Amino acid sequence: MGLNDRRMRWRGGRRMTNGGPPPVDYAKTDVDELLELIYTLKESGKEGLITVEELRRKHNGDPAIDKLLEEMGSLGLIKISGEKIGFSERGETEAEKLIRAHRLAERLLTDVLLVQKDQVVESQACAMEHILNPAVVDNICTILGHPRTCPHGHAIPPGRCCSDRKRAAAPAVLSLDELRSGESGKILYVETQDHARLDKLTTFGILPGTTVKVHQRQPSLVIFVGQTQLALDLEIARNVHVVKMT
Ligand SMILES: [Zn+2]
Ligand SMILES: [Zn+2]
Ligand SMILES: [Zn+2]
Repeated sequence: MGLNDRRMRWRGGRRMTNGGPPPVDYAKTDVDELLELIYTLKESGKEGLITVEELRRKHNGDPAIDKLLEEMGSLGLIKISGEKIGFSERGETEAEKLIRAHRLAERLLTDVLLVQKDQVVESQACAMEHILNPAVVDNICTILGHPRTCPHGHAIPPGRCCSDRKRAAAPAVLSLDELRSGESGKILYVETQDHARLDKLTTFGILPGTTVKVHQRQPSLVIFVGQTQLALDLEIARNVHVVKMT
């Protein structure tokens, strides 16, 4: 979203609790998008590009970027030293929350809602990330079986639900290796960036919509796909997400 989007406004920050003048209004989405940009640049090892000059260039010299950086600095989200921009601890946490919401929304849109156009997935996920609260994000994560990557293969920062998964109620979606002997599951999606592997699994009938049954778990995982028996590596089974059939 652009710098002129003023539909959602950030009213958080320290000044709210100081009892001082009301906080300056500016678009929350601008802050969010910049946090995400810094996060993804950092994630892909392009820290060198996180500079004031680079951001000015990216925004075609729009003076709003300087104001935005100033605001984010005063909200304690980023630290600027000279040209370099870095996260504060709080900024990094905020960015992680956004990235987590965005990438889980991508999974939800792609795997469950079967939205196929990447542009639609992208714009919808980008809108959803700003409105989903962390508890709802954790619910989405749980329903999806705590996926570790988005459809593009980028890591999803784990939430509290992911470490609590043993204690929590059984999620609607499990990975294939979590089914017990005799249990069946309908395949929702296969999580892999390895196209050769995906093709191979598809050849064996391991594809969305297929119902599989776990025949045995020891000494190795053997499943039934229709009448066909198939031995699967645990590592592969972990990437096959199913809805348990009861
Ligand atoms: Zn976004
Ligand atoms: Zn993605
Ligand atoms: Zn989770």
